[in-house]
Amino acid sequence: MNGVNSKPPRTGRLKQHKKERRTSMQEQKRVVEKDPPLRKDERIVITGAGGFIAGNLALYFKKKGFTNIRAVDKKPLYEWYLHVPGVENLCLDVSDEDNCRRVCEGAVEVYNLAADMGGMGFIERFRIECLRSILINTHMVEAAYRAGARRYFFSSSACAYNTLLQKDPNVRALKESDAYPAMAERGYGWEKLMSEMFCEEYWHERGMKTFIARFHNVYGPHGTWDGGREKAPAAMCRKVIEGMDKKDLSINIWGNGEQTRSFMYIDDCVVGIDKIMHCDNLIATPINLGSSEMVSINTLVSKVERIAGVKLKRTYDLEAPQGVAGRNSDNTFIRKVLKWEPNTSLDKGLAVTYKWIQGQYEKRKKGHRVGVG
Ligand code: NAD
Repeated sequence: MNGVNSKPPRTGRLKQHKKERRTSMQEQKRVVEKDPPLRKDERIVITGAGGFIAGNLALYFKKKGFTNIRAVDKKPLYEWYLHVPGVENLCLDVSDEDNCRRVCEGAVEVYNLAADMGGMGFIERFRIECLRSILINTHMVEAAYRAGARRYFFSSSACAYNTLLQKDPNVRALKESDAYPAMAERGYGWEKLMSEMFCEEYWHERGMKTFIARFHNVYGPHGTWDGGREKAPAAMCRKVIEGMDKKDLSINIWGNGEQTRSFMYIDDCVVGIDKIMHCDNLIATPINLGSSEMVSINTLVSKVERIAGVKLKRTYDLEAPQGVAGRNSDNTFIRKVLKWEPNTSLDKGLAVTYKWIQGQYEKRKKGHRVGVG
């Protein structure tokens, strides 16, 4: 009987239980078997491919010569940021279990990047939408497992880290162990942390190789640059371009501008995803994927001004969403395992991004349809 009156287990039984538990834990320690090399005609599934990072990832694999890429997004095709020729595009909502099964049919590798997300303005206001993305990973990881996929990638976020460690603009960079004890970003961060745990258990309990990267702010061409979901680098570029166009040389900055972040250029991000997904030393092990070049938002604005060749009058909105005070990526672990880290300088990446957003802005002005988010 398990009531309050039940007797505590005798020492002998307790010892036996502990021994059994140890044995079953040992059994769970999996032997990593070597995969056959991935053939170029084997199916790669990428979700969220109508969006920024996954769209660029589909393009990256296409350029590498893969011929059986399935790109998936719930948005109608005309809203996708990138259309990669020769890729199978499916418009399906992957928070639905049946759709996930359809999507994963025949998949050898699955990259799950679909999520309802945006910059601070979005994730601070729409926490329920962010939390609902738990359905996406829950169904995708199961569908990938059932389909017999060899590898599964999950795009986590630096928002999974303990927010108490990010209260100062001069923070020390976050290392992988800083996610626990957990105090993630409300909504979005908790969803990422829980989904990471799902991925880890699909390896430990069921033996599917899973990989988890914690992205730190990603920016670059083909990303969201207007509409409320854009992140700081794109927002600053657009504000400067708009200001110059409308002859209003002022810029409104969220917060006091002293909050710090690091920003990773998209080309580094897709290369990093590929490297992480194919490194057996990283199975079920969350790893930072971010730049370690930390700047304040004020510095970011100065860099955009330099590219544009203007000086703007700055105003500060202290009530606007601004997220944690400081955040940077500690790249000790990624350097050690991959002998690599994201290394495109912010100056270089911003110059390309600025030019791309300027092109999009001008196209839209002429009445053309452009993807903004
Ligand atoms: P994005 O918004 O540009 O792309 C996400 C895409 O997922 C969108 O096109 C959206 O339509 C799609 N999507 C959302 N719900 C879906 C559903 N139920 N079914 C099918 N598609 C769905 O975002 P992104 O910047 O490309 O981010 C990709 C991933 O990386 C996300 O998981 C995000 O949380 C993570 N991440 C991004 C950043 C960053 O700085 N961009 C930072 C940390 C983590």
